[in-house]
Amino acid sequence: MNIRFDGKVAIVTGAGAGLGRQHALAFAARGAKVVINDFGGSREGSGGSSAAALAVVEEIRAAGGTAIANGANVADFGQVQDMVAQTMDAFGRVDILVNNAGILRDKSFAKMDVADFRTVLDVHLMGSMHGSKAVWDIMREQKYGRIVMTTSAAGLYGNFGQANYGAAKMGLVGLMNVLHQEGIKNNIRINTIAPIAATRMTAELLPPEALAAIQPERVTPGVLFLCSEAAPSRVVLSAGGGAFAAATMVETAPCHFSADTLTPEAIANRFAEISDWSTASAYGEAGQEVGRFIETSLGALRG
Ligand code: NAD
Repeated sequence: MNIRFDGKVAIVTGAGAGLGRQHALAFAARGAKVVINDFGGSREGSGGSSAAALAVVEEIRAAGGTAIANGANVADFGQVQDMVAQTMDAFGRVDILVNNAGILRDKSFAKMDVADFRTVLDVHLMGSMHGSKAVWDIMREQKYGRIVMTTSAAGLYGNFGQANYGAAKMGLVGLMNVLHQEGIKNNIRINTIAPIAATRMTAELLPPEALAAIQPERVTPGVLFLCSEAAPSRVVLSAGGGAFAAATMVETAPCHFSADTLTPEAIANRFAEISDWSTASAYGEAGQEVGRFIETSLGALRG
């Protein structure tokens, strides 16, 4: 299987640097026409210019590829709609959207301003929703679309000082879960990458030897797979340093309590059984989990 993107149009947000830049270069190298979105801000999300996006466009053009620059702030829906209109004017379609743009405003929750919490949600969660919303009808009409969200271990598992970022990143998994169900009948497949990469986001967190092992281009092949014709849907793909793993939410088997035994003490007494991960499984949608609870409860009532 040779994964190519000839004739396809890909928008990559935050593609002026780091992971997004590598994704964009790789899409272009495999034939896609690429929209390089970046508002060129600092790691904390202030300032902004189109210089970073333009530099990546030049790099792609110099290598014989096709790309245009866009300076939208993904937190602003109007600017994102304009970006998609610019893409349609230039290329006539949008096949792929990689929601990658991101910022950090790390602080312990005790010290974090509400404004810093909201700004991080606005860029990661609302920004990814804006992009997805702006391309949704186009992809539905085309009956083809591939969208990638960018989550983080900080959201999947927690990380001190990143309440805003973790909440936004886990929110993206929830967004993927629902968009998968709503998009799949029109061949819109939604997946999520959970990258680990040496970029300005991680530059101070890891020793040089570790940073050298986790260059962002070692994540990018996973993103291209998630955007390919044969892409899966509703997958969270963890990726770093050339290693890949699938992540999912799992839940233990329901433990039932009859009405006469249902007390907080009884739950405490059986909590080891309730949280016995050897019984865990993943659900494909909310209805499966809800149905299992109703069946468990009805089954117990019927005896
Ligand atoms: P980076 O800072 O190198 O790149 C992010 C890019 O997004 C920058 O070029 C920035 O200008 C752009 N950007 C930020 N806010 C924007 C906005 N509102 N509109 C448009 N562009 C905007 O960081 P990176 O490490 O390459 O991060 C890329 C994505 O990967 C982010 O979503 C980040 O949260 C996620 N991520 C990275 C790591 C990692 O290890 N580097 C881990 C987990 C998740």
